[in-house]
Amino acid sequence: MSSVRQDAIKAIACAKHQLNRVDFKKTHVKDLFGSMVFNEEVQKARLPKPAFKALQQTVKLGVPLDPSAADAIASAMKDWAIERGATHYTHLFQPMTGITAEKHDSFITPNGDGGALAEFSGKELIKGEPDASSFPSGGLRATFEARGYTAWDPTSPAYIMENPNGSTLVIPTAFLSWTGEALDKKTPLLRSMEALSTQAMRILKIFGNNTARKVFTTVGAEQEYFLIDKNFYYGRPDLITCGRTLFGAPPPKGQELEDQYFGSIPDRVLACMSECEAELFKLGVPVKTRHNEVAPSQYEIAPIFENSNLATDHQNLIMEVMRKIADHYGLVCLLHEKPFAGINGSGKHNNWSMSTDTGENLLNPGDNPHDNAQFLIFCAAVIRAVAKYSEILRLSIASAHNDHRLGANEAPPAIISIFLGEQLNDVFEQIDKGGAKSSKQGGIFETGVSVLPPLPKEAGDRNRTSPFAFTGNKFEFRAVGSSANIAGANTVLNTIVAESLDYIATKLEADVKAGKDLNKAIQELLPPIIKESKKVVFNGNGYSEEWHAEAEKRGLPNLKNTVEVLPVVTRKDTTELFAKYKVYSAKELESRFNILAEAYVKTLDIEAKTALMMARSMILPAALRYQKEVGESIAAAKAAGAATPAGVESFGTLVSAINDLQLSINKLEKAHGHHADGDAYAHAKHMRADVFPALNNLRTAADKLETLVADDLWPLPTYREMLFIK
Ligand code: ADP
Ligand code: MG
Repeated sequence: MSSVRQDAIKAIACAKHQLNRVDFKKTHVKDLFGSMVFNEEVQKARLPKPAFKALQQTVKLGVPLDPSAADAIASAMKDWAIERGATHYTHLFQPMTGITAEKHDSFITPNGDGGALAEFSGKELIKGEPDASSFPSGGLRATFEARGYTAWDPTSPAYIMENPNGSTLVIPTAFLSWTGEALDKKTPLLRSMEALSTQAMRILKIFGNNTARKVFTTVGAEQEYFLIDKNFYYGRPDLITCGRTLFGAPPPKGQELEDQYFGSIPDRVLACMSECEAELFKLGVPVKTRHNEVAPSQYEIAPIFENSNLATDHQNLIMEVMRKIADHYGLVCLLHEKPFAGINGSGKHNNWSMSTDTGENLLNPGDNPHDNAQFLIFCAAVIRAVAKYSEILRLSIASAHNDHRLGANEAPPAIISIFLGEQLNDVFEQIDKGGAKSSKQGGIFETGVSVLPPLPKEAGDRNRTSPFAFTGNKFEFRAVGSSANIAGANTVLNTIVAESLDYIATKLEADVKAGKDLNKAIQELLPPIIKESKKVVFNGNGYSEEWHAEAEKRGLPNLKNTVEVLPVVTRKDTTELFAKYKVYSAKELESRFNILAEAYVKTLDIEAKTALMMARSMILPAALRYQKEVGESIAAAKAAGAATPAGVESFGTLVSAINDLQLSINKLEKAHGHHADGDAYAHAKHMRADVFPALNNLRTAADKLETLVADDLWPLPTYREMLFIK
């Protein structure tokens, strides 16, 4: 057997991992939680009263921070951090690469006498100036105009990231260009949250709510991921370079027995999960659930929801911590949307709702949704938004990675639709027909077993195949990719719902001002909204062929891949929408278009180069060696006077498969070598039309060979090994 695979299996079989690294008996989870966060409790204990008050006003109500408070906050933060072993601080930001970025500065300043002071001023807390030229700007700035600023986000608390040798105080920030354009994902998200709050508050006012002062969008994102042994990972250049396997024949057993989902979790994996959770608890990330997912070696982690900004920062932390901790157990955490072909990929279910600062969930239907006018308004606003802006929503989840997943009978299709569930669907149908009189009720679940307690039953069943589902008191956007920064999808969601709320508030305000009864105004307002939007409501199986046909009949867009959806970014209606709510300027959208197109091109370019390298230097040589072996064996048999029809037949099959591989290499080489004229988008189109099919073609040829070549010559860890040897 090839030494890489042999060594990997041997290493795994003999490995002794130190599994018990955290002891919850010694440290109670509740003491661990938030222990590394400069949270409200710490702020209260350590800040002068006026500074504390000012900061809380900013966090809770969005009031701009009084700059005079900054010095006091910085100084308290520094002392607190140094006591906990911090030597450096960093402004953490979310550039448009999709991952987070950080540059560390030490607290040390020479004091002039050969000694040094630990210093951290309000100015340093509020503003940083990383060299912005090496981050994608999509044409927003030329490289010679390198100025970019990081601006402290006081609404997301600073925390300490522990490293083996010293710790770092991490300050969440927004990242902007010298001219004020957003160069990141946080700034537009914060803008969209404000836009939604403004519009939602208008609706609440109409309903006579005078206590709420702000509306927050809330998010709880469930993260799917794979864990595989590091020894295999190192044997796969495609996993290392591209995050996904470009080759690999299907294993004899995949996920067809459905014995994975919620199955018992292997010790090593569970130990890894527990340490991740312990680390995340310290950082104040409220992780709640863990379980096996559908595919072999696939798992999920989910936190309790928080406001979208914090939830986004915490989601990024979850990904970072999981990657880091997996290594302690000899594992690699794969966050790619489709690391393995033929089995489920990974997504991120983005649970989303709106809540007042007083804690009222605006998408809570109560027991009688038909009678809950305020809920119906907020819910109808979401339905209208998704119907009207489904293409922009589709855009928010587009990437070369996620293209492999959407619509592949494992994840929601690229067609955006809404699942409402039986109860709500019924209520909205009644409204559509003239007025809602009743709500279907849940009741008691019949188990047929007398010793089991009676179980309350929901008013409707669930649906896993819908990209956008109402799940009781929130919507779940299920098409977000597993490696994506959730800021993008939430920025879009918040903005399109803000527009809907604006539309509704404007109508209702005018009606009420004209002396119309509010209930009557609502009764007149809802039916046309439902009529207009109901094409997007679908409660059936979203994976089915019939749905694709039906969706086409309804005129719903089906933008199958990133290249098809990209032009939506700079379309007039998109630009107007985002400009109206001050979330993205036209210039910022133009830059996103360029960045998305470039990212698509680069992803496929790297995949093509990796595939060619592996095919030429690993797969073809193995196949040729085997061809020689079989050829020699046939010749030897012949020389000895024996006929070997079996040998001759398999030799023929092998030779032709090797020829196919060579032809596929040539094809991909040609497609990849072709230079498309024009801008990044023209290149992206070429990549999708020519390089993508050539890559798939090469894969088919190589995977065929994997089933023919002697196992001991095959150079790459196989799916069977990577997914099942734990
Ligand atoms: P599921 O049945 O899909 O597992 P859960 O009720 O366990 O649903 O919740 C899944 C995620 O939804 C969790 O992260 C949870 O915190 C989040 N969630 C619950 N309520 C809300 C809400 N009002 N807003 C946003 N997310 C929410
Ligand atoms: Mg869910």
